[in-house]
Amino acid sequence: MTPLLEIKNLQVRFKIYEGELKVLNGVDMVIGEGEKVGLVGETGCGKTTTVKSVLRVLPTPPARISGGEILYRGKDILKMKPAQIRSLRKGEMSAIFQDPLAALNPVFTVGHQLYDVIKYSSASRGRKRLSKKEIRARSIAVLKETGMPDSERILSNYPIQLSGGMRQRVCISEALSASARLLMADEPTTNLDVTIQAQILRQLSELVAKKKSSILLISHSLGVVRNLTERVYIMYAGNMVEVARTKDLFADPLHPYTKALLKSVPKLTGEGISRGIRGRIPNYLNPPAGCRFHPRCDHMMPICEKERPAFFTGGDSDNHKVACFLCRR
Ligand code: SF4
Repeated sequence: MTPLLEIKNLQVRFKIYEGELKVLNGVDMVIGEGEKVGLVGETGCGKTTTVKSVLRVLPTPPARISGGEILYRGKDILKMKPAQIRSLRKGEMSAIFQDPLAALNPVFTVGHQLYDVIKYSSASRGRKRLSKKEIRARSIAVLKETGMPDSERILSNYPIQLSGGMRQRVCISEALSASARLLMADEPTTNLDVTIQAQILRQLSELVAKKKSSILLISHSLGVVRNLTERVYIMYAGNMVEVARTKDLFADPLHPYTKALLKSVPKLTGEGISRGIRGRIPNYLNPPAGCRFHPRCDHMMPICEKERPAFFTGGDSDNHKVACFLCRR
């Protein structure tokens, strides 16, 4: 697997009145060319901060990247000049965030916003510049690809005139029209009705496969990533705690947090309401020493309060790694 994106020991802090929030605590992640990767964890565990760090859109201050590297095709994004970052965002990486109304500009029509995205992305990576007519045709085509009804008429609509599902389809169209090598989809269906969540995710997956892009699908639900990804990272309180091929993770989850997440998935089989995970994400002003999960862990040992666990190989595959002393051999 040729790595497209490699995050190494990424550390992000946020300055607030009371002190410094130690949010990302040495995050490591690899996404290969054309690979579909999931990133799962509770709300507030640092998933969006990771994506925003890659895109270099974290507001600094209050944020501060205090350490680590983010290598995109071998080059460190954190050392790039603003013009290089803009060029990456135009033609190489795109993102879909969870609130389409906030992501779209309310004072421009859908057609205007798609026009800008297609115009600038077509001019990047040495592609041929497109004429106005070609851009319009391409806008209609990408909207149709996402299953948008009456695409031609939608071009003259403002975001407020569309339903939540239609707005998210516009965001997906914008992200895909850039033909980016890496698409980061941050909880892209959280605000949508369950009836169209599966439909949008399936379409997103098919479109990414067609364009041979890599995707990082972020979710707080393991159920969402199960059918759409090849590998999954589990994140807890600013640390990666488990990574495995998706089928291995579901067949043999090893980290106590992953097991607790799986037990939290609601069941429709009459086995009652899921148990949830006791406690909550720690305060990042003063996070627990050692393993950050130890205050919530049923298997906590004395060493867990003192030392941070390294990644140990677990399960049947060398690619299954777990940051837990229970898996130390
Ligand atoms: Fe639990 Fe210790 Fe493993 Fe952390 S390292 S998950 S506290 S057993």
